[in-house]
Amino acid sequence: MIIILKNNTQTEKRTQLVDWLEKQGLTVHISEGKYQTVLGLVGDTSAVDQDLIASLSIVDSVKRVSDPFKCASRKFHPEDSVIDVSGLKVGGGHFVMIAGPCSVESEEQIVGIAKAVKAAGAAILRGGAFKPRTSPYDFQGLKADGLELLRIARQETGLPIVTEVMSSRDLPLFEDVDLLQIGARNMQNFDLLKEVGRLRKPVLLKRGLAATLKEFLMSAEYIMAGGNEQVILCERGIRTFDDYTRNTLDLAAIPMLRELTHLPILVDPSHATGIARLVPPMALAGAASGADGLMIEVHNDPMHALCDGAQSLTPEQYADLSEKVRAVRKAVNA
Ligand code: PEP
Ligand code: MN
Repeated sequence: MIIILKNNTQTEKRTQLVDWLEKQGLTVHISEGKYQTVLGLVGDTSAVDQDLIASLSIVDSVKRVSDPFKCASRKFHPEDSVIDVSGLKVGGGHFVMIAGPCSVESEEQIVGIAKAVKAAGAAILRGGAFKPRTSPYDFQGLKADGLELLRIARQETGLPIVTEVMSSRDLPLFEDVDLLQIGARNMQNFDLLKEVGRLRKPVLLKRGLAATLKEFLMSAEYIMAGGNEQVILCERGIRTFDDYTRNTLDLAAIPMLRELTHLPILVDPSHATGIARLVPPMALAGAASGADGLMIEVHNDPMHALCDGAQSLTPEQYADLSEKVRAVRKAVNA
């Protein structure tokens, strides 16, 4: 249920209403927008007297919200959320370029790539230290040592870092990571979602391989219901019947999610296609679709990458693409 308050409602009156609702066992989320204040009620609202609330002098209107995701719903929070990643804003018109290798391999590799992508305009460095691989015989990541190398790259460049956490057991190692990634395979690892929901740290949640948008938003809801509202979504392609590309990039998800949620939405054209030459056109399409940013894999030597070399751009290709992304954004926002 949402309660839209009249403009210029006194804070005292609002507090009285919120207290009264909380006494009925409900959690109240207050969204104070430029034009209106919305109270979002989470919990069992079946016993709440909707007519009584509607009759209050400070209330403009009351609506029942049928979306099963409440905190993530735009109805609860009409304005775009802006997520702060160590001082860098994402969402609500703040577009972010995230780039880096699939996996951290060495100090030379990660620092070199970090410098190159920063020069091309990337604002956040990506790099996997704990890697979810289909085969147990494939490179599993440098783990804690990889996180240490990311810290060095951050120190050298000033770029905040995003890296994937696969298990809540490892969370203590991620304390100083700027943006925690929950990967596609873990999108419905509910224990992990609940654990990161207890933190007060931004989370990049990637869409599961076969997740509907509702399931995707329900996973965001798990994190937000725990009190961590700093969630950024990432469309990274879903599995369909076609196998020319690694996945099928669901670009319609961007404007659809835009309607459904206030959370920022990124596009990852690298995992969506699996093929480096398809990354630039899909990145540009992602930017044109209204995404709040792009996450792209970049490697200094894709032929010898320990993971996902086939979909990695070289730093030169990334720099060229970045310029085109800027041009597309300018054209779309004109
Ligand atoms: C990644 O970004 O490194 C990754 C493994 O992506 P996904 O979870 O989308 O497959
Ligand atoms: Mn990868």
